[in-house]
Order: sequence, then structure tokens, then C-alpha cells
Amino acid sequence: MMKNKILQSVVEVTRQRDLDSMESSLVATLAQLLPVHAVSILKSSRENNVVSSEVVVSLTIDKSKKAPYCWDVDSHIDVTPEYLTACTQNATITTYQHGLGYFRYLFPIFEESQATGCLVVDSHKELSTQMSLIEAFAQIYQNYRILFNESERDKLTGLYNRRTFDNKLSKLFKIQQQLDANAKLSQLQERRHSKDHDSAWLVIIDIDHFKRVNDIYGHVFGDEVILTVSQIMKSCFRKTDLLFRVGGEEFVILLEPATETVAVDLIERFRKAIADHDFSQIGTVTVSAGYARINENDYPPAVLDFADKALYYSKEHGRNCSHSYETLVEQRKIIPSIKGGKVDFF
Ligand code: GH3
Ligand code: MG
Ligand code: MG
Repeated sequence: MMKNKILQSVVEVTRQRDLDSMESSLVATLAQLLPVHAVSILKSSRENNVVSSEVVVSLTIDKSKKAPYCWDVDSHIDVTPEYLTACTQNATITTYQHGLGYFRYLFPIFEESQATGCLVVDSHKELSTQMSLIEAFAQIYQNYRILFNESERDKLTGLYNRRTFDNKLSKLFKIQQQLDANAKLSQLQERRHSKDHDSAWLVIIDIDHFKRVNDIYGHVFGDEVILTVSQIMKSCFRKTDLLFRVGGEEFVILLEPATETVAVDLIERFRKAIADHDFSQIGTVTVSAGYARINENDYPPAVLDFADKALYYSKEHGRNCSHSYETLVEQRKIIPSIKGGKVDFF
């Protein structure tokens, strides 16, 4: 009976079609199969020999509550640094007793030959007999993660690819609509009517006169420029912003909810960082940007069209600049697009 349940769980976890869904499914499955009170996946990174972690997904279970399953949105779990280091650096399963009295198990997750994260299982009971089961799930996750990273990311830059963009954008809209439904009676609704309220943003970025780079220096140098632009992009935006390479020298960024002031700041900081960068042998390269607010009631492809119109405006007005679709419409510098109409991208 138990074996059957485990097999069904494996089928369920591996049925998922993208990494996010698989991570949630894995965590939920372990929470159902084992006597645990929390299961999480952490991503770890090492800088100056200090290992830090970031929560990818986390589920807490409290059977005494009416709604026992709680997806944590907090981006931090207090894993004792020495144990996190032991798990990821020595690549071994690490166990310790948490200050609050429960057992914590850290299973390393590998990427190539390095541990780049861990699966964290918290339980009030010792899980000795279930260790091999969790380990097997961690390995299945690891194998699938490699496959997903190959299919979801662009080979040259490591950014998300065009296909992933479509999925993430529609997911983002679903989440926003849910949030909006939940917020109907709250002050959030009021805040949304204020001028500089928080929202997600869609930014399109295109390298200026890139054909010239290819024509003068060749494709290999062109690719090098694309790679450098993507690296600067990773360093300028926040960890939670989603970065995509959607075409040859075109990028899209989905900015986590922020006020327009913050969004403009991020976009401009990136634009200036590119303009100030010394591209070896080529010299200066610039980018243009267009961005649009993601309103939950919009039709997702329409937002792309809005940002694209703003980008086109930037290209027509000197390049090496960024413009907001909303502002351009307000200032009557562009004619608004028809919502929900058929649109062509890229
Ligand atoms: P604009 O400022 O108007 O954007 O000018 P542009 O020359 O960048 O314009 P356009 O978007 O028409 O040209 C993009 C060029 O990028 C076309 C192609 O030669 C080049 N390109 C597209 N994909 C790649 C790639 O993967 N690697 C390299 N090296 N070049 C690429
Ligand atoms: Mg282009
Ligand atoms: Mg271009």
C-alpha cells in the first residue's frame, strides 16, 4: 500500500512541466508522505567563503490548524550557517536539532559536481527509516532540474528563454488576478488607485545598432556583447526579477511589484551601467528600453505590445534611453493600443 502511494507520488512529481511546479509538487508530496512539519528547498551561494541561502519554496504543516498547509512567502529560513556549509560544501546529508526542539535534515542538491542548494526537512520525530526515501526524491528532483534548466534557459546567457517567458507571464497574471480577488475588500484596492502604487512591470530591452557590431567585429564578438549585457543585467536587477533573452539581442524583464519610482530606478541603473561599460575592443554599447505596468485586468500579450511601443519610441528618439508606455500615452506622444487586439511580437 505504502509502495503504491510512493509510486503515485513519483508519477505526480515528474508529471510537472516546469521547474517551479515540480518544486512545489515535490515539497507537497514529501509533506504528505512523511511525519514532517516543514519541507523547503533552498538555493545556496558562496561568496568569500561564506555560504548563504535563499528560499526557493517552503511548506509548513500544522495539523492542529483548520488550514494545516501553509506556503511560506518569507524568503528566509534560519539554517545554522555551519550546518548549511557542512551540507553544501562536503555534499553530505546533515542533521541537527533545531533550537525549537525539532530535527532538521539537510539533503544536498547538486548541479554538475557542486551542491548548489539543499532540501530541508523539519520533523519532531527522527526520520531514520525514511532517509533513503527522501534521498531518492532529492535525486529525482536533481535529475529533472538539470533537464528543466536546459529547456527553460538560453544556452549562451543562462537567462530564461522565450518559451519560458510565455509560461511565466501567464502564471504571473493568474497570481495577480487571485491577489486582486483577495484584496477586493482591503485597503490594497485603494492603494492601487494611488498614483505611484506597487505593481509588476514588463520591460523590453534591445541592444542599439547591434547589426553594426556584427558587421564590423563579427558574430563571435557579437555573442560576447550579448553575454556581457546579460551579466550586467543579472547584477543590476533584483534576485526576484525574472530575466529573459527572447530574441537575438532582445531581452524582457518581469519586475517584481514595485512603485514606478523604483522600477525606473532599476531600469535606468541598468541602462547607464551598459553605457558606462568598456566592451573590450568594441568600446561603447548602448541599449534602449520600453516598459509597461502589468495591470491584472490586461490581456497578457497586450502588455508586451505596450512595452514594445515604448521601446520603439525610445529607438526613434535617440536610443540609449527608456520610456514608459503609460507616460507616453498620457503625454499624447503615442496613440494607445487597442486592448485585446491581435498583436505581433518580435
Ligand atoms: P536598433 O538600434 O534599431 O535595434 O538596431 P539593430 O542593428 O540592433 O537592429 P535589429 O534588431 O534589426 O538587428 C539585430 C541584429 O542582431 C540582427 C542580427 O544580425 C543580430 N543578431 C541576432 N541574434 C544574434 C545572435 O544570437 N548573435 C549575434 N552575434 N548576433 C545576433
Ligand atoms: Mg532587435
Ligand atoms: Mg537592436
